[in-house]
Amino acid sequence: ALQCGIVGLPNVGKSTLFNCLSNAKAQAANFPFCTIEPNVGVITVPDERLTRLAEIVHPGRIVPATVEIVDIAGLVKGASKGEGLGNQFLGNIRQTDAIIHVLRCFDDGNVVHVDGSVDPVRDKEIIDTELQLKDLESIESKISKVEKLATMGGNKDAKVEYTVLKAYHDALIQGKSARTVQFDTKEEQQAAHDLFLLTTKPVLYVCNVDEASAATGNAYVEQVREAVKDEGAEILVVAARTEADIAELESFEERQMFLEDAGLTESGCNRLIKTAFRMLNLETFITAGEMEVKAWTYRKGWKAPQCAGVIHTDFERGFIRAEVIKYDDYIRLGSEAAVRDAGLLHIEGKEYVVQDGDIMHFRFNV
Ligand code: GDP
Repeated sequence: ALQCGIVGLPNVGKSTLFNCLSNAKAQAANFPFCTIEPNVGVITVPDERLTRLAEIVHPGRIVPATVEIVDIAGLVKGASKGEGLGNQFLGNIRQTDAIIHVLRCFDDGNVVHVDGSVDPVRDKEIIDTELQLKDLESIESKISKVEKLATMGGNKDAKVEYTVLKAYHDALIQGKSARTVQFDTKEEQQAAHDLFLLTTKPVLYVCNVDEASAATGNAYVEQVREAVKDEGAEILVVAARTEADIAELESFEERQMFLEDAGLTESGCNRLIKTAFRMLNLETFITAGEMEVKAWTYRKGWKAPQCAGVIHTDFERGFIRAEVIKYDDYIRLGSEAAVRDAGLLHIEGKEYVVQDGDIMHFRFNV
């Protein structure tokens, strides 16, 4: 499953955001190291299309796409050297597909800041530095092994890997994250990917603000914007505590009302999930049957067999063809039979690039 890790210094609002995202209740308390175990929560991806298809198909159930969220606590200055509970948590980050970096952009004398003052840009750099040091450590342990092979000539793979390691090393030593380095060739890109570095993971900055700044942002948010403008990273302004409170409310109408009071049209959680999907180049295709209407997650650009493999590896291995209905055709014509009669059920082969919202039916040999 797709996994996003929430990182940030203690007391910036990670567990609060986590609570608001998953319905699991991590303990939000006003002291560092409150969330000791990495908390995992599962959130569903809101998708209106599933509801509309279900009105036609009347399935036994609707199964939306999900994203796993891990609350990774315990990152502090010195974590890469084993300070706090750091090292263990850096390992948790390695397993994630993307990083949600929470920055404290709210003032509150009652909430202790580990570094004594509110300064989201400094906080960001503290976390970045720990991740960069960890990457530097893994690069340095590899580089000495590869260097010999690469410089003795002969071994082409070693040469490629060496180039990649060198480039990353140069960036990291200057205090830059590995994601700032781009590679031209397919081979280099693959070698870069195979290193599973922490600072190559896509990052989304969540500026955690007070209710009053929920819609407008504030001066702290502007500082963050300025600091990350060259990273090409996404920034999201979320009032985590307000939204966590709202998420506790029973009825949808009530939640909507409180959101509007805070000047918001959509909850921060929804915006966050959507942004994470876009950032990771993810899309969903749909299967619609009597048993279930279900959303499946794949990476933009994947072809039909690869998408079939998301459902089951056998589907990919024995792939024969795909029957594809466009979502709009399905809704407009009102049934699969009507789509078929209209000649709009498309038969596609191995080379078909699946499109977001396609309703797929795979044919395969077992
Ligand atoms: P974590 O250590 O990063 O997981 O931080 P928590 O989520 O436990 O939050 C630490 C404290 O800050 C808790 O007492 C929260 O209620 C409080 N907090 C979180 N977000 C906000 C916010 O937007 N405004 C204010 N005033 N307090 C917040």
